[in-house]
Amino acid sequence: MGSTLIINIGILANTREACHLLRGQELALLPCIENAYLLLEDDQIADYGPMSEWANNQKIPGSVIDARGAVVMPAWCDSHTHLVFAGSRENEFVDKIRGLTYAQINAQGGGILHSARKMNEISEDELFVLAWKRLEEISHLGTGAVEIKSGYGLTLEGELKILRVIRRLREKSNISIRSTFLGAHSYPEAYRENHQGYIALITDQMLPAIAAEKLADYIDVFCESGFFSPEETALICQAGKKYGLKPRLHVNQLNSIGGIQVGIAQEAISLDHLETMTAEDIRDLSGSNTIGTLLPSAAFFLRMPFQPARQLISSGAAIALASDFNPGSSPSGNMQFVVALACIQMKMLPEEAINCATLNGAYALEMGSELGSITRGKRANLLFTKPIPSLAYIPYSFGTNLVDRVMIGGEFI
Ligand SMILES: [Zn+2]
Repeated sequence: MGSTLIINIGILANTREACHLLRGQELALLPCIENAYLLLEDDQIADYGPMSEWANNQKIPGSVIDARGAVVMPAWCDSHTHLVFAGSRENEFVDKIRGLTYAQINAQGGGILHSARKMNEISEDELFVLAWKRLEEISHLGTGAVEIKSGYGLTLEGELKILRVIRRLREKSNISIRSTFLGAHSYPEAYRENHQGYIALITDQMLPAIAAEKLADYIDVFCESGFFSPEETALICQAGKKYGLKPRLHVNQLNSIGGIQVGIAQEAISLDHLETMTAEDIRDLSGSNTIGTLLPSAAFFLRMPFQPARQLISSGAAIALASDFNPGSSPSGNMQFVVALACIQMKMLPEEAINCATLNGAYALEMGSELGSITRGKRANLLFTKPIPSLAYIPYSFGTNLVDRVMIGGEFI
């Protein structure tokens, strides 16, 4: 590929000499260079600075790209999605508008169990085609790294099917992908009255099979009343760790039942959702090394209270933003909208929201040293905007796709 020089960048955003996970007041600092250049060597960032300094640079580029005043920034790092699913659930969406409750929808066979039924009917090839389209869609909306979970199979074969599709996405796409096993998403119909039996299926059959094919990087559990208790969550995390899978968990979405505390004790990389947080939960998370990942589009779609971003930031927690792209509670993987919701509904500053959706998102994927900022040696996963007056225009102009071009590993997609 050789060297590529990008000139006339209106704002080069999130430029950092060195990186670390951001927390507290640091989140509001988004270093930028106006009227900048960016030099790439193959798929990596080699150098950057103001255009006025380019003349002093001795390197001769192989090719030149004129950014024509665009904002150039790291592509979004979306650290929580379920984008491999078989069928959409807009019927359920309309039923909810008509007034049906979550319990009534579940009783009709809707919800996660509906997705699980569809998943067990579809072939792996058909599932791959659907997931590939969604991956293409989010990459054109500016996502350059993504985590994808299983959890709609709830059988050994179904979970393996999803994880094999994630592996195929990883092989075909240049986007950076992390894979998470979420067998503990819900209890399948057959185990409705036998929770211990399903947990044993996860720990004794699913995990060894997944590990044998090296299909997952992480293990996830839906720790929630009526689903998996903190004790069951700990048991499943420990079983995953035996196979090298680190925990990242769904906690505190509907109830505060000790998910934060069990996640910290299990050294989870990230604890996600956090709609329902007590003062103690916020204090414990802030005092830990675990990242809190906020999913505002799920709160928006389910008409739930938004996550307490301001309290988390003021107490010093490390937080990230992700889309939760899934058919039931967030049928969108648009990170521009996630950033807009974070600013509009959670009162995050645009700088905070962008840091949480890029650098801290990268840390939530354990890719903080490779992605998420404009730093020498990092991979050139970049987003070029349409002409916009400022970075704050991104959340301000919600609903408009402001992404013009996306570069993954130094090449436009
Ligand atoms: Zn989720």
